Amino acid sequence: MLEALADLWWPPVCAVCPRALPLAPAGSGWRGCFCPACQDTVELLPASVCPVCGRPFHHAAGHLCGDCLADPPPFLTARAAAVYKGAAALSIGRLKYHGDLTQVRALAGLAAALPETSAWDVLVPLPLSPRKLAARGFNQALVLARAAFPGRPLEPGLLSRPVEAELPQAALSRRERLKAIRGSFRAPAPGLVRGARVLLFDDVITTGATAAEAARTLLAAGARAVHLAAVAMTVRDSWR
Ligand SMILES: [Zn+2]
Ligand SMILES: [Zn+2]
Repeated sequence: MLEALADLWWPPVCAVCPRALPLAPAGSGWRGCFCPACQDTVELLPASVCPVCGRPFHHAAGHLCGDCLADPPPFLTARAAAVYKGAAALSIGRLKYHGDLTQVRALAGLAAALPETSAWDVLVPLPLSPRKLAARGFNQALVLARAAFPGRPLEPGLLSRPVEAELPQAALSRRERLKAIRGSFRAPAPGLVRGARVLLFDDVITTGATAAEAARTLLAAGARAVHLAAVAMTVRDSWR
């Protein structure tokens, strides 16, 4: 009742633009957080994706993409809810770079659209280095994982990242990125990792190189399987 009255005086606005939300918001999920124009910029990943890396295909799935055939990643599957663009990218940027925690509802709502493709025992958010964590004040992967999977086992302490390569990632080749990332994670509690099926969670999957290194660390510590999930994924047109 109070909330309804408050909405009349201060109409809720879109998470990423100044437009007011429609009086009858489109559901309680992520759509209810964005105005119709911004909703239209959100592109959910289609059902036909590479079964391993989760990149979309323009034709029927059922086989691996060329990248996964040539160089199989250490994680078994990777899935994202949306393409990293439009309102999804704006919302992630506001959370990460402006500390806007009101974005968590929209982004956790998007993560709820993730297909649950495989069974897992424990959720591990991709860690930040202590330096980056101190600068940002929070780990967006942890905040989003907690909101997206309420009541599920969450163990941020299973993976740490003592140092983080501060390199202009876009300018690096794949080989250089892999080299820079190699050895940057630790599994401080291998006793808890051994035999576990881990769902590694991050806000965005770009090349997947960082998550691959995190997965390698968990597997070396005895994890039975590592899957990867994220709110969004960068998609090159050439992959479709
Ligand atoms: Zn909007
Ligand atoms: Zn693939």
